[in-house]
Amino acid sequence: MTALIELRGATKTFSGGVLGRERTIALEPLSLAIDPERPRIIAVVGESGSGKTTLARLILGLIEPTEGQVLFKGHNVHALTSAQRGDFRQHVQAVFQDPYEVYNPFYRVDHVLMTPVRKFRLAKTRADAHRQVADALRAVGLQPGEILGRYPHQLSGGQRQRIMVARALLLRPRVIIADEPVSMVDASLRATILGSLRTMHEELGISILYITHDLATAYQVADSILVLYRATVAEAGAVEPVVKSPRHPYTQLLIGSIPRVSTERNWATEERQEDRRISAEGCRFAERCPKAMPRCLSATPALFQTEDNRAAACFLHADAAALPAGQLSKVLALA
Ligand code: SF4
Repeated sequence: MTALIELRGATKTFSGGVLGRERTIALEPLSLAIDPERPRIIAVVGESGSGKTTLARLILGLIEPTEGQVLFKGHNVHALTSAQRGDFRQHVQAVFQDPYEVYNPFYRVDHVLMTPVRKFRLAKTRADAHRQVADALRAVGLQPGEILGRYPHQLSGGQRQRIMVARALLLRPRVIIADEPVSMVDASLRATILGSLRTMHEELGISILYITHDLATAYQVADSILVLYRATVAEAGAVEPVVKSPRHPYTQLLIGSIPRVSTERNWATEERQEDRRISAEGCRFAERCPKAMPRCLSATPALFQTEDNRAAACFLHADAAALPAGQLSKVLALA
């Protein structure tokens, strides 16, 4: 079975500084595949600079990998034919953090919903188009009569975000990349929006890559979790065991910080201050790790497979076998 989306050693570095000589690694080589026959919700968790948004942008074809490839149904997303690109644009949808940027303030919100229906010829008649739009709005908990005919500024942030989810739903995608979709809405709406995503996954078999800094919502909504730290995978596996019994000291730190952190506060902010001191050699987490050993400063840990459905990049688990290249999808139950 050809994967719907596949990353093959996808790596991203950015150049900067004088004459572009400074290179920042945004994502170390990553290989994983999303199988259309095994829809999953995969949470990608990490602080700012962890590589999670780079991963989203690579999958969406918004940036090109520096090395490796991103494939859609076996084809390089940057070399798709016109027909393949249309297929990709319909079946790989995005929901971003700030929906307001997507709206044109001069158009009623109907425009943002009817455009994809027209563009992808989803409806046979005008009445059918309206019915589909109304159904999609109801699916995310909105009443069409209260939404249609309004301008973006007349709606709340939560309503605008739910319209974006409805818009994605209209296209009947196979995968949704949801990049911090609830970080700008209040706690009560967070549950509604995440509930809509979960329902879409369960009823329509849509895979969702849920990108977040919030481990609590990741646990609430996801089947599998990928914890990124400074452009590399720190830990991966089924969400329940990873969150209940984390193997990597970084994941342990994240989980330990949940009870004392407000849901409005991004724990990433304070942690990012310390990142600058981290050595480029050895384990990337060594300077902050309470369990660091001498070898952690000079060697980079492999991703060790601690159980069938789990792996952690930490020398504390060096007695386990290193996860073979390309096997991350198995640990995440994607393959
Ligand atoms: Fe900590 Fe060493 Fe494990 Fe890195 S490899 S997380 S420094 S114990």
